[in-house]
Amino acid sequence: MAKKVCSFCGRSEKEVPLLITGLTGFICNDCAEAAYQIVEENLKSPAGAKGKDFDFSMEELPKPSEIKEFMDRYVIGQDDAKRYLAVSVYNHYKRLQQGGDDDVEIEKSNILMVGPTGTGKTLLARTVARLLKVPFTIVDATVLTEAGYVGEDVESILSRLVQVADGDVAMAERGIVFIDEIDKIARKMDNPSITRDVSGEGVQQGLLKLLEGSIVNVPPKGGRKHPDQDYLHVDTHNILFICGGAFDGIEKKIAQRLNTHVVGFNSVQHTRQIDKQNLMKYIQPQDLKSFGLIPEIIGRLPVLTYLNPLDREALRRILVEPKNSLLKQQVKLFAMDGITLEFAPETLDYIVDKAMEFKLGARGLRSIMETLMIKLQYEAPTTRKRGEKIVITKEYAREQLESSFLQEAAEA
Ligand code: ADP
Repeated sequence: MAKKVCSFCGRSEKEVPLLITGLTGFICNDCAEAAYQIVEENLKSPAGAKGKDFDFSMEELPKPSEIKEFMDRYVIGQDDAKRYLAVSVYNHYKRLQQGGDDDVEIEKSNILMVGPTGTGKTLLARTVARLLKVPFTIVDATVLTEAGYVGEDVESILSRLVQVADGDVAMAERGIVFIDEIDKIARKMDNPSITRDVSGEGVQQGLLKLLEGSIVNVPPKGGRKHPDQDYLHVDTHNILFICGGAFDGIEKKIAQRLNTHVVGFNSVQHTRQIDKQNLMKYIQPQDLKSFGLIPEIIGRLPVLTYLNPLDREALRRILVEPKNSLLKQQVKLFAMDGITLEFAPETLDYIVDKAMEFKLGARGLRSIMETLMIKLQYEAPTTRKRGEKIVITKEYAREQLESSFLQEAAEA
């Protein structure tokens, strides 16, 4: 037998951690890894594919109304936000298709969705991404800090997108990024003890670069930039940014602005029209500025929309109606054990009442549902027979919930 050396680099068995034997030769672990990378690069992003050939025509793209209909299947209410999102996404794709011949350039339509937490901002973004089959990632703005501080560089947002696109930069360059909790990087003006605002304005400046469209050096594996690392060059011109934030307390700024406006000769008319319960729907860019976003960022998020707080009626619909509603998921879990699961209508009212009481919005629905179903989920597969039917009554639900930590936590 021939001497055992790697057929690619020539190192012997002793010089490498692992030597793999083939029919007529050998390969060491290092060469195998290098070969794998070459295969990845060549097969996944063929030369010339760099973001140019989007092989779809406008005719075959879903129209805004179709995009909204799709969102309706998963997200309850929030019609305004859905319309804005649908139009922005549609325009985004028009943008990807526009020719460079005439002078009219369609600008990017990044979106800012403002609304209380748990009202469906992330869900909307996820749903849209599902329809469009483009790489999509969610990042949390709270982890972003200025370079040199504990936290993540702004560029790490793009590393994630590239990872989702399986390392294909061209694919990532047409993707969608959802930046959650963007309100957390607002300038913290009202806190004089902060001498350096490492997670505020500096991060906004960094983010600006991505939003306005530029070529950004991105560390492939995320994390901090490192001088020895090879960077990927990601062009953000065609990446759609959707931002979401609760902007707690912004209603006060809106109210202030509206008040100053109503002091005029037609003030009576104005006050009558204002829906004081939901001031969020009057949000304007200047309110975001008062909240602490820098004007340049606001300018790069031209589509501003809001989400409504969820009322009892909306919560009940969320429990039952969406294609993968919490109720349908439970029914499916039990059906897989051959058990028919039903919820009495008053049980659903009870769950909604509790969610309102716990003030957890739609997120609360899930924890309540899990809490009241855990015992049955644990026991039913062994104690119940296939073909059996279980009806969840209000009494049963109350019993389960009252003996749980959820109730205790709410009372604490
Ligand atoms: P946000 O991003 O606004 O804080 P999410 O979109 O993460 O809230 O909502 C949390 C969960 O609550 C979602 O996963 C979903 O199950 C449910 N939910 C919230 N709003 C809605 C809605 N309008 N329609 C359907 N489900 C919703």
